[in-house]
Amino acid sequence: MPADPLPQSSRPVRALRPRSTAPGDPGVRRRIEKVARTRSRQADHGGWTTSDRLADYIEKVALPTVDDLNLALASRSSLRTCLTYLLGDCRSEGHVHSAGLRGHTIDSGVRFRVLEQCLSEIAELHGSVSAHHSRTALERYVLTPLERDEVIRASPLFGRRLALSRPGNSTDADDDSSQIPVLTPEEWRACIDYLLYVDAAQGVEPPRRGKYTLDDRIAVRRTAIDLTLLQAATGLRAKEASLLDVHMVSFADGKMAIELSGEAATTKRSRIIHVTDPEVVNHFRRRSDGMSNPDHPYFGTPTKPETRWDLSQRNLAVREIILELADALDIELLRTMRSHIWRATIRALVQGTGVSEQAHAAQFGDRRGADRLVPADAQAGIALAESLHHLRTGGEVSGDPDPSTLAN
Ligand SMILES: [Zn+2]
Repeated sequence: MPADPLPQSSRPVRALRPRSTAPGDPGVRRRIEKVARTRSRQADHGGWTTSDRLADYIEKVALPTVDDLNLALASRSSLRTCLTYLLGDCRSEGHVHSAGLRGHTIDSGVRFRVLEQCLSEIAELHGSVSAHHSRTALERYVLTPLERDEVIRASPLFGRRLALSRPGNSTDADDDSSQIPVLTPEEWRACIDYLLYVDAAQGVEPPRRGKYTLDDRIAVRRTAIDLTLLQAATGLRAKEASLLDVHMVSFADGKMAIELSGEAATTKRSRIIHVTDPEVVNHFRRRSDGMSNPDHPYFGTPTKPETRWDLSQRNLAVREIILELADALDIELLRTMRSHIWRATIRALVQGTGVSEQAHAAQFGDRRGADRLVPADAQAGIALAESLHHLRTGGEVSGDPDPSTLAN
């Protein structure tokens, strides 16, 4: 009956339908569905499926992407470090990153709780700044590409606040050293020595194009080195350092005094920071000697010293120096920390050296308790500077200053 061919040819199709309604073997069905998913995804989703290992994705996609970024070597290596933390492959001594993403598939790993736990652990072991950077690396180089390739529907972190184990310390972190990992005294000393004696021209190559000269590049590096040195030696905030003018830095009796005006101080209360370490004092005396106009910024734009240095340019240049320290001195912590590590380290160093609370507050310009701060006692400030000087040059690491070294 040629009039009715359709019912016959459609019958076999109908005969197959029980496959989807009958329970069948769930294991077989899952495999079939997985193969179907794999096929369609291999065509459209960059070759990745949710059953692939998340670690493979990070190693084969995210890390090469980071390596190809048009970023300074230093920034690339910091991103790589973050991705390594996410995998749980950190090699810091005593660290067990049990919430690392290695071992997860894309499906099991790209979940809010899993990622939150992983980042929370990074915050615990490496500080909230590292956790913050790791989240950024995760979102930018893992979750967004997965979403773009439609391997996942949406990033589970998008627009969500994370309950990291150290909450609330990201914006005001520099005022709470207890929540920030700090350098050891040896590391801190090595950093200061490096900054004091590194040649600003070292490793600087002439630009291949653009308006900047080799001298300009060296000037950028020198300014970033000096700015970092001042922070490392005094705990001055980066923002405060950028608001210093030449006339605020003075020298007398082999000492240096930084008179931070109320406008420059983050607390809006003027304070004086003393430095007695002769090598540091001499370094900045040479810097000051090269600056003729007292009203210029102390750390102005390297190529245009009369203007304030653009913040993002400054941060970039300082970041390079900090990562150079990390590489040269093999200090892993510096790879992921920002400049407030100096402040936290110095605070930790002077704790227990018998320095008065008042001197402490005067040196650091704490936000908390700033209203209680009485005008700084110069002697107390100098005592604090001397204890730092001693800590740097005193040889043995000890909570108690050795009187014989102090007398020198
Ligand atoms: Zn670690």
